[in-house]
Amino acid sequence: MRDLESTGRTRVADATASAGPLVDLVIGMKPVVIPETSGFWDGTVVQELRIQKCNACGNTQLPGGPCCANCLSQDLTWVKSNGTGRVFSFSIVHQALHPSFMDRVPYVVADIQLDEGPIVLSNVTDVDPHDVRIGLRVAVWFDEQDTDAFGVPFRLPKFKPSEQ
Ligand SMILES: [Zn+2]
Repeated sequence: MRDLESTGRTRVADATASAGPLVDLVIGMKPVVIPETSGFWDGTVVQELRIQKCNACGNTQLPGGPCCANCLSQDLTWVKSNGTGRVFSFSIVHQALHPSFMDRVPYVVADIQLDEGPIVLSNVTDVDPHDVRIGLRVAVWFDEQDTDAFGVPFRLPKFKPSEQ
C-alpha cells in the first residue's frame, strides 16, 4: 500500500472488503491531487506554501476550491504565502493510534492561521509540545516524506517556532 494516488478508491474498497487491517492504508498514503488542489501540491514540490487568491474580491483561502468561499467567483490564482503565522488552536497527541506514529508521540496537531488569513491544519515541530501556546509565531518548513518513481519529492508543510 505505497501509492494510492492513481487508484485510491479501488484500493481502499478492496482493502475494506478484505477486512484487512485498515491501518495499513495509512502507511505511505499520499493525497489524491485534483485540479482544485494541484496548485497547492505543485508548490510543495518547490517548497512554497501556496494559497488560493480570488482575483475578484482579494479573498485568500486554503484549502483551494473551485470557487471563492467569499464571493463565489471562479477567477482564482495560486499565490505564494510568506509561510508565517500564529498557532490558532492545537492539540497534543499522546496516543499513537497507528503503529507508524509510535516514534512520533507526543506531537502537536495545530491550526495555523497564516498572516494572509487562511487557517491550515498541520504539525508544530522543533519544540517541546508542552511549550506550544495559542498565538505562538511559527514559520513553515517542508518535511520530505518520499519521492515518486520520477524522483519528484512528496513534501508536507509543517511549522516550527519563529522569532518574528
Ligand atoms: Zn472572491
